[in-house]
This record gives sequence, C-alpha cells and structure tokens, in this order.
Amino acid sequence: MEKITLIDEKIYKKWFAVAPGVWGIHDVLVNMYLIHQPANNSWVLVDAGLKTSAHKIIQVARHLFWPQVTPSAIILTHGHFDHTGALPALLKEWDVPVYAHYLEAPYLTGRSAYPPPDPSAGGGLMTLLSWTFPRQGINLNGHLLMLPEDGSIPGLEGWRYIHTPGHTPGHISLYREHDQVLLAGDAFVTTQSEALSHVITQSKKISGPPKYFTPDWISAESSVKKLAALQPRTVATGHGKPLAGQAMQRQLLLLAENFEKAARPTSGRYVEEAAVAGVNGVEYIPPANNTRWWLLAGAFALAVAGIWYARKPANNSYDA
Ligand SMILES: [Zn+2]
Ligand SMILES: [Zn+2]
Repeated sequence: MEKITLIDEKIYKKWFAVAPGVWGIHDVLVNMYLIHQPANNSWVLVDAGLKTSAHKIIQVARHLFWPQVTPSAIILTHGHFDHTGALPALLKEWDVPVYAHYLEAPYLTGRSAYPPPDPSAGGGLMTLLSWTFPRQGINLNGHLLMLPEDGSIPGLEGWRYIHTPGHTPGHISLYREHDQVLLAGDAFVTTQSEALSHVITQSKKISGPPKYFTPDWISAESSVKKLAALQPRTVATGHGKPLAGQAMQRQLLLLAENFEKAARPTSGRYVEEAAVAGVNGVEYIPPANNTRWWLLAGAFALAVAGIWYARKPANNSYDA
C-alpha cells in the first residue's frame, strides 16, 4: 500500500498536544507552548525557546492555525536565555506585544543580568556546565508590555497567571481553571533538569526548579506550594514532558511537602542566602561558595600525586 507522508514529518515530531487548544513544541532541551482562543480564533505563544526554535515555532503555527499564523501576543513565564532565544527572529516576522511580569522587566530591557548560575549546587552534568549558560537578559524595548495586575492574560480568556517567583523574581505560571491545566514554566519541571541524561531522555519526574539557576529557594518553595494547592489535572513545564493524572498529582504534592529534601540543594551559593532583586533588577548576590571547588581541586591533586608516586621506579636493593 502506498505510504501517506506528512507535509513535514520532522516538524510534526516537534510538537505535541497538551490539552484541548494547547500544544507544545520541544527544541533540544526546552519547551514552548501555543494556546488557541476559540472565541476570536486567535492564539498566543508562551515562551520562545532557543535561537534555533524560531523556524519550528513558525512552521508549527502555520500548520495549526493557518491562516491565522501571527499570534495575538507572546507571554513569557520568565526571561532566561532558553525561554527567549527565538524572540529576535520572531519579532522580525511578527509585530506583536510580549507580556511579562513587571519584576521580570529589568532582564527583558537590558537593565540587569540574572544572578550567576551555581555550578556547585549539585545534581549532575547540566549543573557543572551551568557556568557557561548566558545570564544576560534580552532587550525587548518597543515590544515589552507588563501583564495586568489582576492576574488576567491579554488575549486569553479563561486563563490567569500566577506569580511564582524563586527561579526568577518575575516568574509566572499560567492556569486554565475549567479543566485545571497548568503551564508552570520552570517553577517546577517534569524531568530532572540537572542531569544531562534525563534532559535528553526527558525521563518523567516531578522535580523542583533547576538547581543551578534558582537563586531564591524560600520563594521557590512557596511557589511550588501555591501551584500544588491548585491540584492541576495536567501540567506542562519548561523542561520535560507534559503529565496528567493522579500519580502526577501525588508527586507534585510530595514535592511541595518535602521541598527542602526533594528540591533544595544541600549546599550551594544560594542555599543559605538568596539573591535579592527589585524593580530595577538584581540588588544583592551572595558570595560564591568555593569550598567544594577547593575540595575537588585538592582531591584531584592528591590523585595525580598518587599516580605519579605509583609509577615511579622502585628504589630496591637487588643491585647491592
Ligand atoms: Zn529558567
Ligand atoms: Zn528553562
């Protein structure tokens, strides 16, 4: 029988359904979402992935929403590089507003950089590599608008946003009340984002926000508690696959109840003291915690010395 092929199979494999009218796109290690608004046949984009994501987003939007290929707005859960990467290219194509929480504005207007990532927070290779991740914001002047303070989201009826700081100061999550769909950004994630192997395989586990890029653990904990209290039926996050059902709900409650053990790093730069931020961006950053690096360097030096000593020809006495 003749094989029926998709218009663009590669693109098709990059998007997935989350809930009625909600789709996700996965690119390398991060997700972004498209939400349809049936009342006026418009749609919004939530987050904008990496630089490489622009082409995929445009292709998927054409596929899903033709001829309504331009969104009414772009909503940002937060401004990290892996959630804003495609914006320069997208905004060349689409002249649309980008909405964010006002406490995220300093990192979206070039006024402030995020606090440095913490490679000493533990959890895997992604954490160790995190010192290479860009922490500079992006300048969206001319496009950036602040989300209304009443929790509503322009262009999205039936949805509201919830301020969920901790991972970043102006981080938000999006919630649709009637079927309890939650887009949680990086407030928590559905894979273990510190381990590269888990990020690639997208193993399913409700986990705290990425350890290496979360500079306020007290706020992060109350944000997860706030989201767990909603008892969402479907969750889709910045990293990992969308999850639904009772096992997910149980895992989310467990994470909220045992946040300190389950999510907070045992040591690291921001564990004892949080970074402080205000309307103009970062105001205080705790000093780097270098003890672990010195211990690692010491262990490495001892190992090298041990190998050198073991390889040294033995000074025996047979010659005598
Ligand atoms: Zn993030
Ligand atoms: Zn992220």
